[in-house]
Amino acid sequence: MFNLEKIVNLMIRRGFVFQSAEIYGGLSGFYDFGHLGVLIKNNIKKLWLDFILKEENIFLVETSIVNPSSVFYASGHLENFYDLLVECKNCHTRFRYDHYLKGEYGKVKKDNDKYFCPLCDGILTEPKKFNLMFKTYVGSTEETSNEAFLRPETAQGIFINFENYLKKYRLKLPFGIAQIGKAFRNEITPKNFIFRIREFEQMEIEFFIHPNDHFEWVEYWTKRSLEWYINDLGLKKENLFVYSQSKEELAHYSIKTNDIYYKFPFGEDEIQGIAHRGNYDLSAHIKFSGKDLSYYDESSKEKIIPYVIEPSWGVERLFLALICDAYDEDEINNEKRIVLRLSPKISPIKIAILPLLSNKEKLIKKAKEIYNYFKNYYLVYYDDSGSIGRRYRRQDEIGTPFCLTIDFQSLEDDTFTIRDRDSTQQIRIHFNDLLDYFKEKI
Ligand SMILES: [Zn+2]
Repeated sequence: MFNLEKIVNLMIRRGFVFQSAEIYGGLSGFYDFGHLGVLIKNNIKKLWLDFILKEENIFLVETSIVNPSSVFYASGHLENFYDLLVECKNCHTRFRYDHYLKGEYGKVKKDNDKYFCPLCDGILTEPKKFNLMFKTYVGSTEETSNEAFLRPETAQGIFINFENYLKKYRLKLPFGIAQIGKAFRNEITPKNFIFRIREFEQMEIEFFIHPNDHFEWVEYWTKRSLEWYINDLGLKKENLFVYSQSKEELAHYSIKTNDIYYKFPFGEDEIQGIAHRGNYDLSAHIKFSGKDLSYYDESSKEKIIPYVIEPSWGVERLFLALICDAYDEDEINNEKRIVLRLSPKISPIKIAILPLLSNKEKLIKKAKEIYNYFKNYYLVYYDDSGSIGRRYRRQDEIGTPFCLTIDFQSLEDDTFTIRDRDSTQQIRIHFNDLLDYFKEKI
């Protein structure tokens, strides 16, 4: 696999991703997405919706990013959602304690019970708790009663709407409520480009189940997710694996968690969690809101509090995994080429329409006709600037699977050349067969 620096260079150079607030020096842990990046993110989200809505018992919701502190008091996030932080007494750099112990900032230096700074050898403080939520105030006064937080996960918005769902949709277990949306975590050390960031997008399902048949659903969602990665997104199977968290690693709400890991250039790391949250959240909101969030089970004639399995995906992490998976360099006619071998479903542009020569009016006119025809079916891109070889390269490195070239023969017999991104093979096809060809491939 290629190193992360090469991938970041391509993403920045071609405008997939920008550092946020760059003209003011940038804000660490925040990124903006350009045209090509937004298109890929939207393709991921679209494929995810197709995948989950096929399950038949999944329903969508979109809830507020800002929630009152009462929500996070009940959910335990105010008390438990923290990382341990150590600070160097000399240079005042702060480190995430668990990452420090793993040696992620450099060699761990220890003398008796004291730890030392990996940067300047100063003594580190005792670990202290650092809550990861961003706090804000709602309304015009900054009083404790107006305190609110940016959600650190989309999940709580689903739990606090549980009663609405039961009443309005008359749902029967098992069923899932899903949402795509932004979440925010004030990470101590954002890192690895868009992997660990402070503002990110989640795709989450809270899948409510009868407490009698719970563990099988963790495995169900693990299996279905892996199938989705491999069959629909085109991720390489050998770069994915499942890791079951040990008891010590589990989040404060979880009974069992499977993580799906991707082998990134900077090491293997999590792109999805499948957490068994028990009835922790619903019970907490019943207790603190005083509302009845139980479910009436017809068969046993009993009120129960359902368990919940939560498959949770990070959109930017998946984006990065897809780019790392697809990035390749090869040589064509002794010339180095960068190519993104993305699945056509993920590629931002599906077909580039290119007149062979950029100074022949007849070719350009025909190419624009073809472009205007295909833009009704796919996101296509027209380019007539520079040599044909250079135009191919520009499309290769943004992952466009097909280039359609218009040459003088096209003017005579209505046939066109299709160049395949991965093999660079070219075939000639009559206009009447073009649409069927693309429908099969894209
Ligand atoms: Zn230091």
